[in-house]
Amino acid sequence: MSILITGGAGYIGSHIVERLIKNKIKVIILDNLNTGHKKLINKKAFFIRGDINDKNLVKSILKSYNVKTIIHLAACLNVNEAEINPQKYMENNVKGTENLLLSCKNSIVKNIIFSSSCSIYGNINGAVNENKKPNPEGKYAYSKYLGEKLIKKYSKKFNFKYGIFRYFNVAGASNSGKVGEVEKSYGHLIKNIAIQSLKKKAVIKIFGNNYPTKDGTCVRDYIHVSDLTDLHIKGINYLIKNKKSFILNCGYGKGYSVLNVVNVFKKIKKNLVIIYQKKRFGDVPQVYSNTKKIEKMFKWKPKHNDINKIIRSAIRWEKIFNKTNNK
Ligand code: UDP
Repeated sequence: MSILITGGAGYIGSHIVERLIKNKIKVIILDNLNTGHKKLINKKAFFIRGDINDKNLVKSILKSYNVKTIIHLAACLNVNEAEINPQKYMENNVKGTENLLLSCKNSIVKNIIFSSSCSIYGNINGAVNENKKPNPEGKYAYSKYLGEKLIKKYSKKFNFKYGIFRYFNVAGASNSGKVGEVEKSYGHLIKNIAIQSLKKKAVIKIFGNNYPTKDGTCVRDYIHVSDLTDLHIKGINYLIKNKKSFILNCGYGKGYSVLNVVNVFKKIKKNLVIIYQKKRFGDVPQVYSNTKKIEKMFKWKPKHNDINKIIRSAIRWEKIFNKTNNK
């Protein structure tokens, strides 16, 4: 079996590649390295630097490697940037997905996993399940919503099955210490915490403290990237075995406020300074998953659903990455 993974040099992609290689699967990475990183490329994978918009390239990869399964993660991910430059998100996330799908015409591709986002739900009261009508509020969320629509449309046309994964907040790093989150520019809370953990005087800004939540700060569902990786493996196996498409929320079903998360960090870094700032544009007050479907479909029991563990894992990676980078 050979699997093509677009965006395989990115944070989540590199974790999935690591696991697939461990499972002795032939992996082809297609990544333009715009948001992916050379350091995250697994040496045992076939790496092709290129773009999902390049139909001829994708067609030739599908053919020469006999690809039956694609994990499509390649995308632009910066929520703020999407508001400033929506065209870039249409081009990369929407057109890119369509071109990738068009390249599957007359191929032997039978299964496609697509990385979507919980942001397509918009603001949520209580836990959200997969049947909730999407209400994407920002341009990034909208690009993922359109991506899902394209996957469904071409699944009928070209006769493949799909697994759409709606990621909640992914954090942490593999135990191997070889892959983790590199990109700083997204300003993710747990990445920021990891960065600050290495500083003598750590400072964390909390964006907004008068949201309609239990303590006034935003609530999110943080999932460890190693559990998310497990879910992708289960998803591929499910598609191969059952030949049935699905949509799944990937979260633990528990919401943590920003303050909850920051307080966990404060226990690790006693001299942490917390600064409250105004709300960040586009943040929804709360979103967390209803996990009934994922538990039932995959008989899933997460292994790393502990916010302490997630934060410590992100910090550990940050230390390793900094050490090897500063050599
Ligand atoms: N956040 C924060 N300080 C930071 C980074 C993020 O208060 O330094 C907040 C952000 O406003 C949001 C939550 O933490 O409410 C999670 O943000 P993140 O960027 O990690 O993920 P998102 O939910 O936006 O995808």
